[in-house]
Amino acid sequence: MSIFCVVDDKHIPLYRILWVAATPHFCGHEDCTQEGNYEVRLEQGESVWANREERDAVLEALEQWQGGVGDGDGNWEEEE
Ligand SMILES: [Zn+2]
Repeated sequence: MSIFCVVDDKHIPLYRILWVAATPHFCGHEDCTQEGNYEVRLEQGESVWANREERDAVLEALEQWQGGVGDGDGNWEEEE
């Protein structure tokens, strides 16, 4: 699988992601363009902003990249 995920039209290497916001951004500023988006924090103080679909895709990609964290379903093993 790819080690990249796409957020805000950018290909982000999964290993650069530090954390992903659990709740949508809200700051109340009138000129804020990221209202309702999810912050994806990268190394070196950078952030990108994901919409809900992108955020879900990022989390899924991270889990698969780490080799399937919870060992509940073995679906990913079929791909050998
Ligand atoms: Zn804001």
